[in-house]
Amino acid sequence: MGRIIAIDGPSGAGKSTISRLLSQKLGFMYIDTGAMYRTAALLALEAGIDLSDGEKVAALCESLSFSFRVEGDTVFVTCNGRDVTRAIRTHEMGMHASDVSKDPRVRAVLTELQRELGRKHDAILEGRDIGTVVFPQATYKFYLDASVEERARRRHKELTTKGENVSLEEVEEAIRKRDYNDSTRQVAPLKPAEDAIIIDTTGKDIPTVIQEILGYIK
Ligand code: C5P
Repeated sequence: MGRIIAIDGPSGAGKSTISRLLSQKLGFMYIDTGAMYRTAALLALEAGIDLSDGEKVAALCESLSFSFRVEGDTVFVTCNGRDVTRAIRTHEMGMHASDVSKDPRVRAVLTELQRELGRKHDAILEGRDIGTVVFPQATYKFYLDASVEERARRRHKELTTKGENVSLEEVEEAIRKRDYNDSTRQVAPLKPAEDAIIIDTTGKDIPTVIQEILGYIK
């Protein structure tokens, strides 16, 4: 196994930006596991599969192969040769991803794909259950958090910059709902691993958080 850095936490805590920059700095492969749940939801919807039908969604996931490529400040996500980068980054697909991720059969398939990717490379995996379930033996485990209000502001800015028409209230409401779904589900709920280093990013800029994390990495 390569060296693994796990970055977990709720949406809007800064995981994606931090993971991308760390992967560029350290030369580790970046694996965005949330993008995998988003892609599963997208492809299931396109195939006319009911998202609550875990058996069918899991069967679809069995046939998926992912790759991630970081270019500047964009992470390109390719699934079975198709670039899904833009299609999965919508507000709506975040909610659908949270729905499909509740099913243990879907999680089992995607967890195995994540382990396969991580086994081959030094990697930074970003998600909700990396330090607790996917790689409990990870070399370093970080859990990023921030207040709901700040996470909603960051996510709202990100979505409106990309041209999505969504209000701050809607984003905050959706974040609360996703937090609730993700942390109360039966399988692999969102929670810090016992040995994770917890970093509150509220009021901190990106370079500050990166420095804090690098301070722990030898
Ligand atoms: O991080 P991102 O917002 O892209 O994740 C979308 C959704 O995918 C999360 O709300 C969560 O329900 C699910 N997810 C998960 N386990 C992961 C990564 C994401 O359940 N490791």
